Amino acid sequence: MYKSENKFKKNIYEMIAIVKLISLLFCGFIVLSEYNVWSTENFMKYSQISIYSSIIGTGILVLIYKAWIFSSKRKVMNKINLYYVIETIFLIFVFMTLIISSGGYTSGYKFIFLFIIITTTIQHGMISGIWVSSICSFFILYIDFISVPKGIVNIFFETDISLVGIFILTAWLLGCYVNLEEQYRKELLNLVNIDELTGIYNHRFFQEALTTKFEECKYENTSISLLFMDIDYFKSYNDLYGHQAGDRVLEKIGKVLKNGARDKDIVARYGGEEFAVILPKTTEEEAIIIAENIRSTIENEEFKGEENLPNKKLTISVGVSCAPKRGKNKIDLIKSADDALYRAKFFNKNRVETYFCVLDELKNDIQEEHIDMISSIKTLISIINAKDRYTYGHTERVVIYCKMIANRLNLTEEDKKNLRYGAYLHDIGKIEIGQEILNKKMPLNDKEWKILKKTS
Ligand code: GH3
Ligand code: MG
Ligand code: MG
Repeated sequence: MYKSENKFKKNIYEMIAIVKLISLLFCGFIVLSEYNVWSTENFMKYSQISIYSSIIGTGILVLIYKAWIFSSKRKVMNKINLYYVIETIFLIFVFMTLIISSGGYTSGYKFIFLFIIITTTIQHGMISGIWVSSICSFFILYIDFISVPKGIVNIFFETDISLVGIFILTAWLLGCYVNLEEQYRKELLNLVNIDELTGIYNHRFFQEALTTKFEECKYENTSISLLFMDIDYFKSYNDLYGHQAGDRVLEKIGKVLKNGARDKDIVARYGGEEFAVILPKTTEEEAIIIAENIRSTIENEEFKGEENLPNKKLTISVGVSCAPKRGKNKIDLIKSADDALYRAKFFNKNRVETYFCVLDELKNDIQEEHIDMISSIKTLISIINAKDRYTYGHTERVVIYCKMIANRLNLTEEDKKNLRYGAYLHDIGKIEIGQEILNKKMPLNDKEWKILKKTS
């Protein structure tokens, strides 16, 4: 929804930029007519100057338009920032100058303020619109009182009072419409983005938000972390108490996550009983603390009937990952958080695990003569990981144990390294075996055994 929301705001901003440009163009024409440039005599006399100044004027207007459009890319709509305040003051000042130079209280161009009142209200809502219309009204009434020569009755005062009424009414009416439309749009967005059961964001919104937040953090050169969570033994809970009771648990966990999140975090239901939290501008160390807090809060929360679960408590496992440390793009970040969750599940559940990769370990080992070999090992391990996560995790653990044993045995550096390479490669034959055999839950048949023996 971020995309369509941004597109909507961009279109509105372009429309407003055009209106502002037209108002400036209008001012230009008024100034020229004040100097009687359009009279045939003057037009012939100054025709060359008029042509040049028209070209220069058009160039300046195009530049202003481009600047407006360019600034809109980095500008968040509906937020009043310094740029907007300066721009509004500048336009009000231009219009005031125009009114004063075209006769002050007698000027027929006082309505020009409507341009800035309408654009401000559309862009920033009712309050800003009423502020701007009040300033413009005050200016009109002020010159009515101040600049009228003594002894002269100001016949324009009555129409100016009506004009002030129109200014305020325009800002109020348009502001009401803009607010209603904004509210309606938010309600629609909620329907599309929020998961009905848990009240937190859904998978679709999660994907869009992660793309946006990832880019933002990259632009600002800060870290972004991601938590993946999965309820432990949830199938057993459903089997024991039914899916409706399971749904109540999902609801409660959604609430706990939402209440525990910071304003900048995005909490989403990633899948059936899996949740994800995007932590913008957060390092891995901070993310681990947050993840541990969530895990322990849920462990301490009471869930009906949890005493009959294998752990006697309803718990979750959490995988933590962080970019750019663990991944250069959004896909890598999701994958590494998912791998971390897999590790947490594997190491007895109800725990927080960070992403760890034997391939990263290998990087530290590289010596000139081993570069080719290391890159081949890396490729082979990546292929196994894509096919069979158990073997990958198993390889990881064998490498860790080999390292510990080698240290205990005081092996030479050379032997330690060879042992580690051996550990990385000990299941490499599985590359040849199909995914369906590697991941088969039932006992293997004779034919499958033969295939397994051939390659192992
Ligand atoms: P593990 O500890 O390894 O996570 O085991 P598990 O039993 O939790 O298994 P898994 O993570 O694969 O959970 C899948 C189960 O989640 C299957 C289904 O019963 C349950 N589930 C998925 N979506 C929903 C849902 O919307 N409502 C309910 N009540 N249960 C759901
Ligand atoms: Mg699951
Ligand atoms: Mg589960």
